[in-house]
Amino acid sequence: MKCPYCDSEMEEGALISRMVPQWLKKGEKKGLFLDCKKNFANNELPAHRCVKCKKVILDV
Ligand SMILES: [Zn+2]
Repeated sequence: MKCPYCDSEMEEGALISRMVPQWLKKGEKKGLFLDCKKNFANNELPAHRCVKCKKVILDV
């Protein structure tokens, strides 16, 4: 996948967390649990990372 900011090839990987991450919309107080893949004790979201721009794009 190409970075939408600089057009470089992005690293393919995953964002992992012990807790299920939540999306908290600006102005709201209650988060929405994201639909993660289970990977042993971790929750995993497929992602692409641009090393140059320090951006991560998540598949949620
Ligand atoms: Zn980039």
